[in-house]
Amino acid sequence: MTHDVIVVGLGAMGSAALYHLARRNVRAIGLDRFEPGHERGSSHGRTRIIRHGYFEHPSYVPLVRRAATMWRELEAAAGHRLMTVTGIAEMGHPDSTLVKGTLSASREHRLPHEVLTAHELMRRYPAFRLPQDYVAVLQPDAGFVEAEAGIRAHLRLAGAAGAVVRTSERVTSIEQRGEHVRVRTERTSYDAGAVIVTAGPWTKSLLPDLALPLQVTRQVLLWVRPPQPELFRTGWFPVFMIESEHGIHYGFPLHDDGLLKIAKHHHDREVVDPEDYNRTVSQADESTVTGPLFRMLPAAAGPVVATKTCLYTMAPDEDFVIDRVPGQERIVVASPCSGHGFKFAPAIGHALADLALTGRTAMDLRRFRLARFGAMAS
Ligand SMILES: Cc1cc2nc3c(=O)[nH]c(=O)nc-3n(C[C@H](O)[C@H](O)[C@H](O)COP(=O)(O)OP(=O)(O)OC[C@H]3O[C@@H](n4cnc5c(N)ncnc54)[C@H](O)[C@@H]3O)c2cc1C
Repeated sequence: MTHDVIVVGLGAMGSAALYHLARRNVRAIGLDRFEPGHERGSSHGRTRIIRHGYFEHPSYVPLVRRAATMWRELEAAAGHRLMTVTGIAEMGHPDSTLVKGTLSASREHRLPHEVLTAHELMRRYPAFRLPQDYVAVLQPDAGFVEAEAGIRAHLRLAGAAGAVVRTSERVTSIEQRGEHVRVRTERTSYDAGAVIVTAGPWTKSLLPDLALPLQVTRQVLLWVRPPQPELFRTGWFPVFMIESEHGIHYGFPLHDDGLLKIAKHHHDREVVDPEDYNRTVSQADESTVTGPLFRMLPAAAGPVVATKTCLYTMAPDEDFVIDRVPGQERIVVASPCSGHGFKFAPAIGHALADLALTGRTAMDLRRFRLARFGAMAS
């Protein structure tokens, strides 16, 4: 065998896993069907939100804390900034999933936070116009991570530590054969002691026997030029999420280019085939984001100057999938998406390296087990 571990897919998760393997002096190779920075998966674009008071479930909080520390360690190794702390404002009706969940996680884990009325929030951040019965949970330690730069840093440092990176090489099959795994690509085949499958939207099709209940949905991102840019300046304006009767909308402080990035979480839950879906953003797509959001954030209501599509790989319970494949334990599968995985990439990459090399990890990943789906390799 020429490799100890093969990583299939070098987006947020695979690039981090490859880095953590290479740091342990393991002979690791990473394969991706596209080039880094491509726009076909889930990890492109400049930024992703990192937040600690995890509304989805309090059990994510230790993992976010670990990831935040590891983003700082990666910054130090890479020699440039990868995480910017801006604080976050999470807003909605007191009974909304976002507000209730954020408060529950913050209280359980004693995270620093304050709760403001809509009026107080609008006094502090005049860009917002919220219904008067809304509240805002503010947390100081949230912000954003640099998405594509983070992936580039992981890959560059993995390469420097001895990992092999092969791009524009599509994997066609993955198979455990006794004490090793064989990964076939369009060009050749590789044997290794273990494989980590971090193929994002293509995970299900690469492991067909697992019958993973994952669905890929089309997402839309917009960049607008706000008429009042001074109300959104980085270093003062927080990242934000607002839950209304139209769902959860979110956005970032002003980029250096004077643009605001805004979107709707679960754009319209349209299930698509990652090989072939509509990557053109329509007027209707734009209105899904700007209609509700500009009413609550009128100072942002400027022209849309750029758009992109992106994919979420959704588990039915909106949690992650991270596990060894039952009966084929040399295959580790990770789909930490469901629309909220990026922030965890360094911590999950570390855990994936653990799982591939030793079969276990100190990180508590029980929530993400395959057994919850009754999934079995055939
Ligand atoms: C619009 C949008 C906004 C988001 N916002 C946030 C946020 O604010 N905060 C947050 O934490 N998370 C956020 N997320 C989620 C986060 O981006 C994802 O969880 C994360 O990017 C998933 O990374 P991944 O490595 O699993 O998948 P991907 O990035 O899709 O990587 C999979 C890789 O596998 C490769 N691949 C697939 N098939 C093959 C094959 N056969 N052979 C070789 N290579 C293959 C692909 O080319 C790809 O590079 C957002 C996602 C989207 C789409």
